[in-house]
Amino acid sequence: MVDERETGPDSSALAEKPSNFIEEIINEHLKTGRFGQNVHTRFPPEPNGYLHIGHAKSIALNFGLAKKYGGLCNLRFDDTNPNKEELEYVQSIEEDIKWLGYDWEDREYFASDYFEQLYDWALKLINDGLAYVCDLSSEEGREHRGALTEPGKHSPYRDRSIEENLDLFKRMRDGEFPDGSRTLKAKIDMAHPNFIMRDPVIYRILHAHHHRTGNAWCIYPMYDFTHGQSDSIENITQSICTLEFENHRPLYDWFCDKLGIHHPQQIEFARLNLTYTVMSKRKFLTMVNENYVNGWDDPRMPTISGLRRGGYTPESIRKFCEYIGVSKNNSIVDVTILENQVREHLNAVAPRVLAVLNPLKIVIENYPEGQVEELSAINNPEDESAGSRILPFSRELYLDRNDFMEVPVKKYFRLAPGKEVRLRYAYIIKCESMLKNESGEIVELRCTYDPDTLGKQPTDRRVRGVIHWVSVDTAVDAEVRLYDRLFTTEHPDKVEEGEDFRSNINPDSLEIIEHAKVEPSLKSVKMGERFQFERLGYFNVDLDSRAEKPVFNRIVSLRDTWANIVRRS
Ligand code: ATP
Ligand code: MG
Repeated sequence: MVDERETGPDSSALAEKPSNFIEEIINEHLKTGRFGQNVHTRFPPEPNGYLHIGHAKSIALNFGLAKKYGGLCNLRFDDTNPNKEELEYVQSIEEDIKWLGYDWEDREYFASDYFEQLYDWALKLINDGLAYVCDLSSEEGREHRGALTEPGKHSPYRDRSIEENLDLFKRMRDGEFPDGSRTLKAKIDMAHPNFIMRDPVIYRILHAHHHRTGNAWCIYPMYDFTHGQSDSIENITQSICTLEFENHRPLYDWFCDKLGIHHPQQIEFARLNLTYTVMSKRKFLTMVNENYVNGWDDPRMPTISGLRRGGYTPESIRKFCEYIGVSKNNSIVDVTILENQVREHLNAVAPRVLAVLNPLKIVIENYPEGQVEELSAINNPEDESAGSRILPFSRELYLDRNDFMEVPVKKYFRLAPGKEVRLRYAYIIKCESMLKNESGEIVELRCTYDPDTLGKQPTDRRVRGVIHWVSVDTAVDAEVRLYDRLFTTEHPDKVEEGEDFRSNINPDSLEIIEHAKVEPSLKSVKMGERFQFERLGYFNVDLDSRAEKPVFNRIVSLRDTWANIVRRS
């Protein structure tokens, strides 16, 4: 059992205006003293996959409430499904919660640690005439449950004696019967308007190895017979879950009441859904197993590990959760809200650097050969304390191919034959001529520069475009991974008959640039470091990065360009 700590709410939290309906309920509990002055929540993942951004909402909510009210939040693994659960998932969940910035301290629990207690409680129900061993197959069991509009039928095994039930249940535990041959059911009401109350199964036979209890058990409690009791054992006060459990609440209450144990209040809220995203561990497992992505931590995945590897900051995810809030109505949140949060955070903290993704070499004909100038560049205009750095400027530079047009369109302010453009932090240059290879592809530009334009505008003409560059001699060769949305449609789960979400996967969600050129300050970057590549977006250093060749992921572009692309196509 868990000890109750002295965790009175800090009085300022109570006085404050509640910011959602859950806080209203908690305030009411504190007022009536239903749980004394305790607020004790929990985050209860099933370790059958990696956590996703939807879980982040639940984590932020549960840990956030505990913090706000000066209470506690437990981490509890709901591990009642031996076939799908693994240690790898337990470890990833722990890592993800810590990374998000939340701390369960020493309160890490496993529902499987309560198996013996749950078994005893099942015996109590049998002894009280409230549970029976049923020999119906699952198919027959379904038939007996009736339909929404008609009551179910009693199982022929419903009136077994307490002695017979005790004997059979013990023998179920002892492994005498094969999987699926018998179940233990709660004896409630086969005519109950709520299907879930029609004699639900509470134990099933499953000869399976469990990641923690090994082969100790061959019967396993159902989720509904585990969750509320685990909450009760841990002295949870508010058991917060998603809306699909609303119709399970009467059963949650029934078990707590009939067992006469501490009775937490279950409260349901709407789960997070995002546009251009699916949100289910099962679907993610499919994407991983069928190689649509490169593992659970692929930066295109809305998993916490994917967001982390792809450069998201914990701060931006927490702010996103706070921003979207909680409600009772299911809705779909625009994914750009999440993208904007990370953009906003990185705008404030990410150093600016110059990187050329698609290099085109230029030679400045009137710049002295062998000369190198050390130009000063500001690291972050949003943060003076970030200081400045040196950019070496020389006769041969790389520009981005996209910043040159042989036949410029109207209002093109970047480089074109005979036109001028400013190089960021440096001079104005003019394109004098182009060199092409046999296939007519431009391989080099010959330019001139105006030595009087370093840090000042010429008075006799207006040069509007500013483009980025790196010097050929000192550039660092880098790999850049440009990620795009994983799905082509706003609601990937909406599909034609016979299809599933996989038909909406974006086949062009990853473009790898093998030989980008980045400025020399990026020569010895560390994994996870984040930058703004000026004019291109925010990038971080991937874990595949090597000293001889850094690898960058695009976290987000500078603006929401997707909206335009979709509209145009
Ligand atoms: P999935 O359907 O993705 O497999 P799940 O609900 O089965 O998710 P659990 O591990 O059982 O995943 O969830 C742990 C906690 O996180 C639960 O309290 C659950 O209600 C909550 N949760 C899961 N998905 C979301 C979501 N999209 N938004 C908010 N909370 C969520
Ligand atoms: Mg689940």
